[in-house]
Amino acid sequence: MDVHELARRVASGERASLARLITLVESRRAQDRRQAAAVAQLLRGAGVAHRIGISGPPGAGKSTLIESLGVAMCEAGHRVAVLAVDPSSRRTGGALLGDQARMTRLSQWPSAFVRPTASGATLGGVHLRTADVVEVLEAVGFDRILVETVGVGQSEVEVLHAVDTLLLLALPGSGDELQGIKRGIVEAADVLWVNKADGATASLAHVAQRQWLAALQLQRPRVAGWQVPVLAGSAREGTGLTDLLGALAAHRAHLETTGTWKEQRRAQRRHRVAAGVRDAVWSRFLAEPTHAASVDAALAASEDESVPVEFLVSEVLSSD
Ligand code: GDP
Repeated sequence: MDVHELARRVASGERASLARLITLVESRRAQDRRQAAAVAQLLRGAGVAHRIGISGPPGAGKSTLIESLGVAMCEAGHRVAVLAVDPSSRRTGGALLGDQARMTRLSQWPSAFVRPTASGATLGGVHLRTADVVEVLEAVGFDRILVETVGVGQSEVEVLHAVDTLLLLALPGSGDELQGIKRGIVEAADVLWVNKADGATASLAHVAQRQWLAALQLQRPRVAGWQVPVLAGSAREGTGLTDLLGALAAHRAHLETTGTWKEQRRAQRRHRVAAGVRDAVWSRFLAEPTHAASVDAALAASEDESVPVEFLVSEVLSSD
């Protein structure tokens, strides 16, 4: 389809066309991605979105919270896009959640768009092209973009290249042992939410809240002058959501007034340009048969793994 036609259809709110555009962004073919970029450029100018990453261990309640937050944002008049982890690739304590219908309440809103991404094709749960998809969603006019990730690995910090604010979910109890959440993601969190502060787990949640508060006070904030708020509430019952929305908005305001907003986005784009150039240069390098052969030769000559990779890199480069 012609770039202008696709842009027109996406702008008119056709969901199938938006889904198609995102598929182009995620394509392995550079040609598809350039076409998607051309469409995004035609759509640009809709405004600036708040990009929010939502991370936490499996079962913490990320999708439940995203749905509640998303609905509240729609009710407030926002256009909300969600990049969710594909249910078919999720596991909680060994139980597959694939058959569970998710975010059905949010999906009913005409101003919401929920896109599942397969975590199989991801780096630590974040799709490699997440940042590009987020950029397109912003160009299309979504002003709240929620990106779900499973916060269990160090590479989760990759999501920071796609979002302005990172919301980390924790479970009631055992706040002192970080519950399998890796330090990297804790250090990167801008807002912390202890979920399931309801029913039998309510008092445990408040204990965890105090423990997290104490732990985070010792930590140097990622953004100067921002003390990470530690909130407790119930994604399921909706309690505490107003405070959470307030904390997210306050973080955005803090980034904007300190100039960090623009600075952070610039740094993210720089990182992505570097990654794109690295990929393209590497592909181009390998496309030359003599180069591919020199890589193979260097690896073959060091079959026993006794040669440090650093030397192999020098060897490949010097054979050019
Ligand atoms: P995710 O794996 O982090 O996305 O977690 P889910 O949103 O799928 O929730 C995992 C389980 O916890 C589900 O059974 C939810 O119904 C439940 N859950 C989610 N939020 C809450 C909450 O606020 N309170 C309670 N009691 N249960 C919740």
